[in-house]
Amino acid sequence: MSFPQRLIDGYSAFTSGRLQSEQNRYRELAERGQTPEIMVIGCADSRVSPEVIFNARPGELFVVRNVANLVPPYAPDGGAHGVSAALEFGVAALKVQHIVVLGHAQCGGVQAFAEDAEPLSPGDFIGKWMSLMAPAMEKVGPRGDLPRADYLTRVEQANVVNSLENLMTFPRLRKLTETGRIAIHGAYFGVATGKLSVRDPATGEFKPIAADDYARLFAQPRF
Ligand SMILES: [Zn+2]
Repeated sequence: MSFPQRLIDGYSAFTSGRLQSEQNRYRELAERGQTPEIMVIGCADSRVSPEVIFNARPGELFVVRNVANLVPPYAPDGGAHGVSAALEFGVAALKVQHIVVLGHAQCGGVQAFAEDAEPLSPGDFIGKWMSLMAPAMEKVGPRGDLPRADYLTRVEQANVVNSLENLMTFPRLRKLTETGRIAIHGAYFGVATGKLSVRDPATGEFKPIAADDYARLFAQPRF
């Protein structure tokens, strides 16, 4: 199979468009190295690209993505840990100032775990990976009479909180947050609406940000 035409066309558009305006920036970043201030831990979901949502330029975001934006707890057991490796690099080498866990609506990984989906393959890699969010499920409790969509939103947001809590199991990161050198944040992207909510650490509530801009834009008639 040949290289996808969609990617060739996309790259071609990039070279004639964005690369033109970013050329100097790319050169500088190549010479000086990257110094992103913000690390984002997001889902692999194709609809939730942090660079698109935050309108990021090259070198601005240090991004790690996996199924359902999970952070496994600190486990110095000699195993290979992708998120921990990215955290180590982001925190110790790049010295990021913020870490954002970005969850989202309609998360397939969360749905699969919340609704006990059948494994997709004998390895059941998703099932094993998603079991990291068991504490979040426990906190939300049974669905009861709650509509499915509301229940899944709760689980998705509890999953973001669970990742934030797991971040605090990394001793160095915990220390840096306690001394105010790194701030960690929870965020949630509504895929259908494009709305972004950020967790208020005082109340635990996810509140929309830039809500005025959003309202103004969508109040205008669109043809
Ligand atoms: Zn997802």
